[in-house]
Amino acid sequence: MKEKFLGVDVSNFTYDQLKENIITDIDENRKSFIVAINPEKILQAQRDESLLYLLNQATYQIPDGVGILIASRLNGGTIRERVTGIDMLLALCEQASLHDKSVFLYGAKPGVADEAKDRLREMYPELRIAGVLDGYVKDYEYIKETINEAKPDIIFVALGSPRQEHWIVDHMDELDVKVFQGVGGSFDVLSGKVKRAPGAFQKVGLEWLYRLIKEPWRIKRQIKLPTFLVKVWKSRK
Ligand code: UDP
Repeated sequence: MKEKFLGVDVSNFTYDQLKENIITDIDENRKSFIVAINPEKILQAQRDESLLYLLNQATYQIPDGVGILIASRLNGGTIRERVTGIDMLLALCEQASLHDKSVFLYGAKPGVADEAKDRLREMYPELRIAGVLDGYVKDYEYIKETINEAKPDIIFVALGSPRQEHWIVDHMDELDVKVFQGVGGSFDVLSGKVKRAPGAFQKVGLEWLYRLIKEPWRIKRQIKLPTFLVKVWKSRK
Protein backbone atom coordinates (compact mmCIF):
# COMPACT_ATOMS: atom_id res chain seq x y z
CA MET A 1 0.00 0.00 0.00
CA LYS A 2 2.77 2.47 0.86
CA GLU A 3 6.43 2.74 -0.07
CA LYS A 4 8.94 4.71 2.01
CA PHE A 5 11.48 7.12 0.57
CA LEU A 6 13.93 8.58 3.11
CA GLY A 7 11.31 8.17 5.80
CA VAL A 8 8.38 9.59 3.81
CA ASP A 9 5.42 7.36 2.92
CA VAL A 10 4.06 7.37 -0.63
CA SER A 11 0.91 5.44 -1.64
CA ASN A 12 1.17 3.15 -4.62
CA PHE A 13 -2.50 3.50 -5.59
CA THR A 14 -3.46 4.37 -9.17
CA TYR A 15 -6.04 7.04 -10.02
CA ASP A 16 -8.77 4.43 -10.25
CA GLN A 17 -8.01 2.96 -6.84
CA LEU A 18 -7.77 6.42 -5.30
CA LYS A 19 -11.08 7.52 -6.79
CA GLU A 20 -12.83 4.45 -5.45
CA ASN A 21 -11.24 4.66 -1.99
CA ILE A 22 -12.01 8.33 -1.58
CA ILE A 23 -15.67 8.03 -2.51
CA THR A 24 -15.92 5.10 -0.06
CA ASP A 25 -14.24 7.25 2.62
CA ILE A 26 -16.92 9.90 2.10
CA ASP A 27 -19.77 7.40 2.15
CA GLU A 28 -18.45 5.75 5.29
CA ASN A 29 -17.95 9.12 6.98
CA ARG A 30 -14.18 8.92 7.25
CA LYS A 31 -12.01 12.00 6.96
CA SER A 32 -9.12 11.79 4.58
CA PHE A 33 -6.20 14.01 3.65
CA ILE A 34 -4.39 13.90 0.30
CA VAL A 35 -0.92 15.33 -0.15
CA ALA A 36 1.21 15.41 -3.29
CA ILE A 37 4.75 14.16 -2.74
CA ASN A 38 7.72 15.12 -4.89
CA PRO A 39 11.48 14.76 -4.35
CA GLU A 40 11.77 18.36 -3.22
CA LYS A 41 9.28 17.84 -0.40
CA ILE A 42 11.04 14.65 0.69
CA LEU A 43 14.37 16.47 0.87
CA GLN A 44 12.76 19.33 2.76
CA ALA A 45 11.34 16.82 5.23
CA GLN A 46 14.89 15.57 5.95
CA ARG A 47 15.63 18.95 7.51
CA ASP A 48 12.23 19.55 9.03
CA GLU A 49 10.94 16.88 11.37
CA SER A 50 7.52 18.45 11.76
CA LEU A 51 7.08 18.34 7.98
CA LEU A 52 8.11 14.68 7.91
CA TYR A 53 5.52 13.91 10.58
CA LEU A 54 2.89 15.94 8.75
CA LEU A 55 3.44 14.22 5.39
CA ASN A 56 3.23 10.81 7.03
CA GLN A 57 -0.03 11.77 8.71
CA ALA A 58 -1.79 12.07 5.35
CA THR A 59 -4.18 9.32 4.29
CA TYR A 60 -2.98 9.33 0.69
CA GLN A 61 0.46 10.58 -0.34
CA ILE A 62 0.23 10.74 -4.12
CA PRO A 63 3.40 10.28 -6.24
CA ASP A 64 3.64 13.65 -8.00
CA GLY A 65 6.88 13.65 -9.96
CA VAL A 66 8.99 11.40 -12.14
CA GLY A 67 11.65 11.44 -9.41
CA ILE A 68 9.36 9.30 -7.25
CA LEU A 69 8.84 6.79 -10.08
CA ILE A 70 12.61 6.41 -10.55
CA ALA A 71 13.12 6.09 -6.80
CA SER A 72 10.45 3.38 -6.65
CA ARG A 73 12.28 1.40 -9.33
CA LEU A 74 15.57 1.81 -7.44
CA ASN A 75 13.90 0.41 -4.33
CA GLY A 76 12.24 -2.47 -6.15
CA GLY A 77 8.84 -0.83 -5.58
CA THR A 78 5.75 -0.82 -7.78
CA ILE A 79 4.91 2.87 -8.36
CA ARG A 80 4.80 3.27 -12.13
CA GLU A 81 2.27 6.01 -12.71
CA ARG A 82 2.45 9.65 -11.67
CA VAL A 83 -0.58 10.99 -9.86
CA THR A 84 -0.39 14.77 -10.04
CA GLY A 85 -2.17 17.16 -7.72
CA ILE A 86 -4.15 18.80 -10.51
CA ASP A 87 -5.17 15.54 -12.19
CA MET A 88 -6.27 14.21 -8.80
CA LEU A 89 -8.34 17.37 -8.33
CA LEU A 90 -9.97 16.84 -11.73
CA ALA A 91 -10.54 13.14 -11.03
CA LEU A 92 -12.23 14.04 -7.74
CA CYS A 93 -14.42 16.67 -9.41
CA GLU A 94 -15.49 14.08 -11.96
CA GLN A 95 -16.29 11.58 -9.18
CA ALA A 96 -18.07 14.25 -7.17
CA SER A 97 -20.33 15.07 -10.08
CA LEU A 98 -21.04 11.38 -10.71
CA HIS A 99 -21.81 10.61 -7.05
CA ASP A 100 -23.50 13.90 -6.16
CA LYS A 101 -20.79 15.09 -3.76
CA SER A 102 -19.90 18.75 -3.33
CA VAL A 103 -16.57 20.55 -3.51
CA PHE A 104 -15.15 23.78 -2.08
CA LEU A 105 -12.26 25.80 -3.52
CA TYR A 106 -10.08 27.58 -0.97
CA GLY A 107 -6.90 29.48 -1.84
CA ALA A 108 -5.01 31.51 -4.46
CA LYS A 109 -5.23 35.25 -5.14
CA PRO A 110 -8.62 36.99 -5.03
CA GLY A 111 -10.64 36.14 -8.16
CA VAL A 112 -8.53 33.16 -9.19
CA ALA A 113 -10.58 30.49 -7.40
CA ASP A 114 -13.71 32.04 -8.98
CA GLU A 115 -12.19 31.60 -12.41
CA ALA A 116 -11.18 28.06 -11.53
CA LYS A 117 -14.77 27.46 -10.47
CA ASP A 118 -16.08 28.70 -13.84
CA ARG A 119 -13.65 26.41 -15.62
CA LEU A 120 -14.74 23.41 -13.52
CA ARG A 121 -18.38 24.26 -14.22
CA GLU A 122 -17.66 24.08 -17.95
CA MET A 123 -15.89 20.75 -17.56
CA TYR A 124 -18.39 19.17 -15.15
CA PRO A 125 -21.77 20.88 -15.55
CA GLU A 126 -23.32 18.65 -12.88
CA LEU A 127 -20.66 19.41 -10.27
CA ARG A 128 -21.91 20.97 -7.05
CA ILE A 129 -19.50 23.73 -6.02
CA ALA A 130 -20.47 24.56 -2.44
CA GLY A 131 -18.25 27.61 -2.09
CA VAL A 132 -15.12 29.53 -2.99
CA LEU A 133 -12.73 31.55 -0.81
CA ASP A 134 -9.47 33.24 -1.74
CA GLY A 135 -6.25 32.41 0.12
CA TYR A 136 -5.57 35.88 1.46
CA VAL A 137 -8.52 36.21 3.85
CA LYS A 138 -6.90 36.54 7.27
CA ASP A 139 -9.81 35.97 9.64
CA TYR A 140 -9.77 32.25 10.43
CA GLU A 141 -13.15 32.33 12.25
CA TYR A 142 -14.73 33.70 9.09
CA ILE A 143 -13.03 31.02 6.96
CA LYS A 144 -14.20 28.28 9.32
CA GLU A 145 -17.78 29.57 9.39
CA THR A 146 -17.93 29.90 5.62
CA ILE A 147 -16.66 26.35 5.08
CA ASN A 148 -18.84 24.81 7.78
CA GLU A 149 -21.93 26.50 6.42
CA ALA A 150 -21.17 25.16 2.96
CA LYS A 151 -20.47 21.62 4.35
CA PRO A 152 -18.61 20.40 1.28
CA ASP A 153 -17.65 16.74 0.94
CA ILE A 154 -14.30 17.72 -0.54
CA ILE A 155 -12.15 20.82 -0.06
CA PHE A 156 -9.22 21.76 -2.30
CA VAL A 157 -6.71 23.90 -0.42
CA ALA A 158 -4.41 26.00 -2.61
CA LEU A 159 -2.11 27.90 -0.25
CA GLY A 160 1.24 26.54 -1.49
CA SER A 161 3.41 23.98 0.24
CA PRO A 162 3.92 23.28 3.09
CA ARG A 163 1.53 26.00 4.29
CA GLN A 164 -1.55 24.20 2.93
CA GLU A 165 -0.55 20.90 4.58
CA HIS A 166 -0.06 22.62 7.94
CA TRP A 167 -3.40 24.34 7.52
CA ILE A 168 -5.16 21.06 6.76
CA VAL A 169 -3.70 19.16 9.71
CA ASP A 170 -4.34 22.07 12.09
CA HIS A 171 -8.00 22.45 11.12
CA MET A 172 -9.35 19.23 9.69
CA ASP A 173 -10.96 18.10 12.95
CA GLU A 174 -13.03 21.24 13.37
CA LEU A 175 -14.19 21.54 9.77
CA ASP A 176 -17.31 19.83 8.49
CA VAL A 177 -15.55 18.37 5.46
CA LYS A 178 -14.61 14.78 4.56
CA VAL A 179 -11.77 15.02 2.06
CA PHE A 180 -8.94 17.57 2.21
CA GLN A 181 -6.53 17.90 -0.69
CA GLY A 182 -3.58 20.33 -0.85
CA VAL A 183 -3.42 21.48 -4.47
CA GLY A 184 -0.65 24.15 -4.61
CA GLY A 185 -0.88 26.28 -7.73
CA SER A 186 -3.70 24.26 -9.35
CA PHE A 187 -6.26 27.09 -9.29
CA ASP A 188 -3.76 29.31 -11.12
CA VAL A 189 -3.47 26.63 -13.80
CA LEU A 190 -7.24 26.07 -14.03
CA SER A 191 -7.94 29.79 -14.26
CA GLY A 192 -5.50 30.00 -17.18
CA LYS A 193 -3.11 32.32 -15.30
CA VAL A 194 -0.36 29.72 -15.50
CA LYS A 195 -0.10 27.38 -18.47
CA ARG A 196 0.46 23.68 -18.03
CA ALA A 197 2.90 21.85 -20.28
CA PRO A 198 1.39 20.57 -23.56
CA GLY A 199 0.13 16.97 -23.47
CA ALA A 200 3.10 15.68 -25.46
CA PHE A 201 5.55 16.91 -22.78
CA GLN A 202 3.42 15.34 -20.06
CA LYS A 203 3.19 11.99 -21.83
CA VAL A 204 6.92 11.49 -22.16
CA GLY A 205 7.61 12.71 -18.64
CA LEU A 206 9.18 16.02 -19.69
CA GLU A 207 6.78 18.40 -17.99
CA TRP A 208 9.71 19.53 -15.83
CA LEU A 209 11.64 20.57 -18.98
CA TYR A 210 8.75 22.67 -20.23
CA ARG A 211 8.44 24.37 -16.84
CA LEU A 212 12.18 24.96 -16.79
CA ILE A 213 12.03 26.76 -20.14
CA LYS A 214 9.06 28.86 -19.00
CA GLU A 215 10.33 29.54 -15.50
CA PRO A 216 14.14 29.24 -15.50
CA TRP A 217 14.36 29.96 -11.75
CA ARG A 218 13.00 26.44 -11.28
CA ILE A 219 16.49 25.10 -11.88
CA LYS A 220 17.08 25.76 -8.17
CA ARG A 221 14.31 23.26 -7.39
CA GLN A 222 15.03 20.78 -10.14
CA ILE A 223 18.70 20.47 -9.40
CA LYS A 224 17.63 18.63 -6.25
CA LEU A 225 16.47 15.56 -8.18
CA PRO A 226 19.93 13.94 -8.56
CA THR A 227 20.64 14.60 -4.86
CA PHE A 228 17.37 12.89 -4.00
CA LEU A 229 18.09 9.86 -6.17
CA VAL A 230 21.60 9.45 -4.78
CA LYS A 231 20.22 9.55 -1.25
CA VAL A 232 17.55 6.97 -2.07
CA TRP A 233 20.17 4.76 -3.73
CA LYS A 234 22.41 4.95 -0.65
CA SER A 235 19.54 4.21 1.70
CA ARG A 236 18.62 0.96 -0.07
CA LYS A 237 18.62 -2.08 2.17
N1 UDP B 1 -1.30 31.38 -1.79
C1 UDP B 1 -2.42 31.71 -1.04
N2 UDP B 1 -2.27 32.34 0.16
C2 UDP B 1 -1.04 32.64 0.66
C3 UDP B 1 0.11 32.29 -0.09
C4 UDP B 1 -0.06 31.63 -1.33
O1 UDP B 1 -3.56 31.46 -1.45
O2 UDP B 1 -0.97 33.22 1.75
C5 UDP B 1 -1.51 30.73 -3.08
C6 UDP B 1 -0.88 31.44 -4.27
O3 UDP B 1 -1.71 32.51 -4.70
C7 UDP B 1 -0.81 30.29 -5.29
C8 UDP B 1 -0.57 29.07 -4.39
O4 UDP B 1 -0.90 29.48 -3.08
O5 UDP B 1 -2.04 30.15 -5.93
C9 UDP B 1 0.87 28.57 -4.40
O6 UDP B 1 1.18 28.07 -5.61
P1 UDP B 1 2.60 27.40 -5.92
O7 UDP B 1 2.64 27.11 -7.36
O8 UDP B 1 3.70 28.20 -5.27
O9 UDP B 1 2.40 26.04 -5.11
P2 UDP B 1 3.46 24.90 -4.79
O10 UDP B 1 4.60 25.05 -5.77
O11 UDP B 1 3.85 25.15 -3.37
O12 UDP B 1 2.67 23.66 -4.94
